[in-house]
Amino acid sequence: MLLSHVVVAWPSGKAEACKASIPQFESGCHLLFYNFMLYVVATPIGNLSDITYRAVETLRSCDYILCEDTRHSLPLLKHYDVNVSLKSFHKFSESSKESGILRDLHQGMKIGLISDAGTPGISDPGAQLIQACVEQGIQVSAIPGACAAITALCCSGLGTDRFQFFGFLPRKGGELRRSIQEILMYSGTTICYESPNRLKETLDVLHELSPRRKIVIARELTKKFEEIKRGTSQELIDYWGKTQIKGEIVLMIAGDIHPQNYTWNNLTPQEHVAIVQSEYGLSKQEAICTVAKMRDVSKRDVYNMVNKDQSNEDS
Ligand code: SAM
Repeated sequence: MLLSHVVVAWPSGKAEACKASIPQFESGCHLLFYNFMLYVVATPIGNLSDITYRAVETLRSCDYILCEDTRHSLPLLKHYDVNVSLKSFHKFSESSKESGILRDLHQGMKIGLISDAGTPGISDPGAQLIQACVEQGIQVSAIPGACAAITALCCSGLGTDRFQFFGFLPRKGGELRRSIQEILMYSGTTICYESPNRLKETLDVLHELSPRRKIVIARELTKKFEEIKRGTSQELIDYWGKTQIKGEIVLMIAGDIHPQNYTWNNLTPQEHVAIVQSEYGLSKQEAICTVAKMRDVSKRDVYNMVNKDQSNEDS
């Protein structure tokens, strides 16, 4: 068989020595050189078949694979005949293992990074290691595949031109409320990961702050009981009623349509603050901060203008 391309990996600074040791190089064969690197490999989010050929080939070629839980990843890798040693790398060990992994990469190892499901680094360990690799000039290459956020968005029926990913919403009531207030002001679609145990509380807050907003829940994507429900928060609360919601969930919130309906500049600062206060359930002080951001002026200016309007009305 005549090879037209040979893929070669070499440790940093040793390219010439490697080229000299490969006979095909002399006979005009094209060599595609790759440095050693960290491969960020997406794995399925439920359906075992949702993995790419390249993901399997890349994992087979690694010196070792970092994964969150070896017991969880072993069956997947066995299924695809990937017989490479696994090392655990989870959110509690990410910092302590980083220097050893960077040393291995510098020494020329090829390392795969996977998570329990989906794309590593997306609400999963990996972002910090990837950042360290980038800072140290180590190449990072992504082998794309499943990601719950994008899978949910593309079949949500909500706008896809502009969207933000919010990760997991905060657990504490006050922080949850503040995050939802922030999300409700965004003009594109917001994608959040949510626990089934907390979904009803989140829907209650959404209902309180913006009862007409369109919400989409994508549950158990790619799995047997996949379900996508669309409606207002109250319609979704009614749909599940008292039943315990189960499974993995992506919550999506439609963008704020108000910016397209009228321009803030047509409102006095006082009217603007009043609308923002009632629409998003904010205190007057919070509304002043928000209006200042929207109008790109200082909080003090908005405060003074609102109070001037108020004192003119009073006199
Ligand atoms: N890195 C993963 C990714 O690329 O999507 C996400 C990992 S994060 C720890 C797990 C969360 O993702 C779940 O709690 C859920 O919100 C969402 N998720 C993962 N798989 C899902 C699925 N099959 N259906 C719906 N949501 C899913």
